Amino acid sequence: AAAGRSATAVAHPNIALIKYWGKRDEELMLPATDSLSMTLDIYPTTTTVRVLPTADRDDVYLDGQPAVGAAAARVVRFLDVLRAAVGRPDRVRVDSRNTVPTSAGLASSAAGFAALALAGAAVFGLGLDPTATSRLARRGSGSASRSLFGGFAVWHAGEGGGAAGDRSSYAAAVDGGALDPALVVALVDTGPKVISSREAMRRTVDTSPLYPAWVAASKPDLVEMREAIAAGDLPVVGEIAERNALGMHAVMQSARPAVRYLTAASWTVIDRVETLRRRGVCAHVTIDAGPNVKVLCARTDAAQVVRSLAELECVRTVAVAKPGPGARLIAGGQP
Ligand code: ATP
Repeated sequence: AAAGRSATAVAHPNIALIKYWGKRDEELMLPATDSLSMTLDIYPTTTTVRVLPTADRDDVYLDGQPAVGAAAARVVRFLDVLRAAVGRPDRVRVDSRNTVPTSAGLASSAAGFAALALAGAAVFGLGLDPTATSRLARRGSGSASRSLFGGFAVWHAGEGGGAAGDRSSYAAAVDGGALDPALVVALVDTGPKVISSREAMRRTVDTSPLYPAWVAASKPDLVEMREAIAAGDLPVVGEIAERNALGMHAVMQSARPAVRYLTAASWTVIDRVETLRRRGVCAHVTIDAGPNVKVLCARTDAAQVVRSLAELECVRTVAVAKPGPGARLIAGGQP
C-alpha cells in the first residue's frame, strides 16, 4: 500500500431475527448455527483506515479516544488477519466512530468490524467481492459478516474446520420481498454490558446442559423464517423471531454461572408488547446480549408502538429503524 493511503467505510448494525449464539471455532470465528438478520438504517459507524508507512505498531481510535486493552487488542488481531491475507506488514491508523452506544447489545461490533473490513480491504487494494469481505469481517466479529449486506442477510455457519470452514462461512443477502417492517428500539440502559458477548457465548457452550437443544431448535427456526420472509408474512416472521430470541436468553440463563442480560425493565417492555398484541397490534420482541428490547412490527404500526413504549417509565429513548443499506466505501481505496 502506498504511503499515507486511506479509505473510509460506513456500516450499520444488524439485529438478528435468528440468533447467533456460540462458536464451534473461536480462532476462525465459525458459529455453531446459521443466523439471519435485518440491517438497520440508523446508528451508522464510520471507519477510516490510513497506512502508516514507518510505524511499527497500529494506532486505534474509537470515538476519538485512543483504544486500550481488549478493544484495541481485538482490532489489532483483526488487522493481523488482514495483513496475512494481503501479505504485507504495513501498520495502520484506525479511526472509528459509532453512533450507537458501544457494547450495549446494540451490535456496535457488527457495524464496527463490517466498516473496518471494507475500509481495510480497500486500503490494501484487496479487491474483495461482498462475499469475501463478509468472510473477512467475520474474523473481527461474527455478526459483522451480515452487516456487509443491506436488508435481510443470512450468515451460513459453513462446514468443517480450517480452510474449509473459513471458506464456507460467509453471509449473503436474503430477498425481503413484500415485507415492510420497522424495528422499534426501546433503550432501557445504554451502559456497557458486564460480560462481553464473546465470554458469555463461551460460557454457554461450555456449561449449559441445554445448549445442544438450542442448536437443534435453531435449524427449523431458520427454515421457517426464510419461508415466512419469502411469503412476506410479518406476523409469522415476528413470532419466530420472538421465540428464537427468548430461547437464546433461556439457554444463556442455563449456563453455569447463569448469563443474565434481561432486567426488570426488559420484562416490562416485553409485557407491554404482549399487551399491544392483545389489542390487535402485530408486534414481537427480539433482544440481544443486553437489556434493550427491539420490537418488530409493520412500518405502518411503528408510531403506535413508539407511543406505547414511550409511556413506560423504564424506557429512556425509543428509536425507529427500517431495513438499511449494506456497508459501503465512501472514500479512498485503490484506483
Ligand atoms: P451485541 O450487540 O451483538 O451484543 P456489541 O457490539 O454491543 O454486540 P460485543 O459483541 O461485546 O457488544 O462487542 C463490543 C466490543 O466491540 C467493544 O467493546 C469493542 O471492543 C468492539 N467495538 C465496538 N465498536 C467498534 C468499532 N467501531 N470498531 C472496532 N471495534 C468496536
